[in-house]
Amino acid sequence: MDTDRSKRKKVIKNYEKPIQKFRFVVQLLFTLLCIWIGIEFFFFIQFLETNGTSAFINRPPGVDGFLPISSFMSFYLFIVTGEIHSAHPAGFFIFFAIVFVSIVFGKAFCSWLCPVGFISELIGDFGDKIFKKRIKIPRWLDYPLRSIKYLLLGFLFYSVFVLMSTVAVKSFLDSPYNLVSDIKMFYFFADISRTALIVLAVLFLLSIPIRNFWCRYLCPYGALLGITSLLSPNKIKRNVSSCVDCNLCNKACPSFIKVDRVKTVISDECTTCMNCVDVCPVKDTLQVGTVGTKKAINKKYVLAGVVGLFMLITGFGMISGNWQNKISNEEYINLYEDIDSYGHPTGTESVKRFNEDAIEKEKKQEINDLEALK
Ligand code: SF4
Ligand code: SF4
Repeated sequence: MDTDRSKRKKVIKNYEKPIQKFRFVVQLLFTLLCIWIGIEFFFFIQFLETNGTSAFINRPPGVDGFLPISSFMSFYLFIVTGEIHSAHPAGFFIFFAIVFVSIVFGKAFCSWLCPVGFISELIGDFGDKIFKKRIKIPRWLDYPLRSIKYLLLGFLFYSVFVLMSTVAVKSFLDSPYNLVSDIKMFYFFADISRTALIVLAVLFLLSIPIRNFWCRYLCPYGALLGITSLLSPNKIKRNVSSCVDCNLCNKACPSFIKVDRVKTVISDECTTCMNCVDVCPVKDTLQVGTVGTKKAINKKYVLAGVVGLFMLITGFGMISGNWQNKISNEEYINLYEDIDSYGHPTGTESVKRFNEDAIEKEKKQEINDLEALK
């Protein structure tokens, strides 16, 4: 029946050039940028390890982008108090840029800019070559697995919004642990434990047959962007009257979205990768468009929008003097000496401790203020 329908339709061929090559270049450039940041950070740590005697390399502020919890707390503090915390200010701007891009263009950060998303995609492509087809997890297992990332995000929200007061959040951001959390993260990977290595190896191996395993099931960033992307007015739209039900869009979608069954893709898993748009053989049938309007957005404008918004927000952080933190090299060297004593806060007990410390600090401050008035 479907074939009859497609025969009856006047098909105008889609000659628009695919955008995937550009997407690959953007992903590659951002991944190279992250590698460059990693190299600079390595030399900065060498500087600390040699007690400031080796050649000095500035700490690259972009490393803050790898501290999602600290960045999220900074963002929360900004919303409540209007203050941009000085420990990892670049993290605040990167976090803001990622969330803002998702509100405008959906979960595009995942498929355009995120280096982990890029690597997952390359591993997935390798898996496609080996298995010749994409393996889809059955729905009864897919849904519970997808909820894991939301549970992780929920735990973070609960810890910050419910268990911690604003003063406690600030106390965490001021803590020596937070100040050196980037260095701790470096050592997590540089001196990786056997357990962590096994976990990473399992994730890598699972990502070969199961495309985007980490992103789809575990990444809390993906969960957050999945939620904010639902607010985006710009979505993949299908023109039902010109669609020939060829099913190519479904096959191309890395997120297993049944694009050919809907008029507008409303899904927390859609990453605005535009693979579906590129493969659609009929002109103007699948496009990115603004909900409530008939206007389509050219693929190149989506590219420019995603990259441009990200650069604009992070660039504003740079030119406004809120990019590099104000921690001096001497302070870093002192903090580094005691780095092993700053434990990672885990569980509700640690959160309670931050609240207690914050109350204690407030009390001390009040006493000091009163004494100053005497
Ligand atoms: S629906 Fe289209 S844009 Fe969204 S993830 Fe699937 S292929 Fe990419
Ligand atoms: S690719 Fe999808 S939207 Fe385009 S004609 Fe085929 S089924 Fe329809």
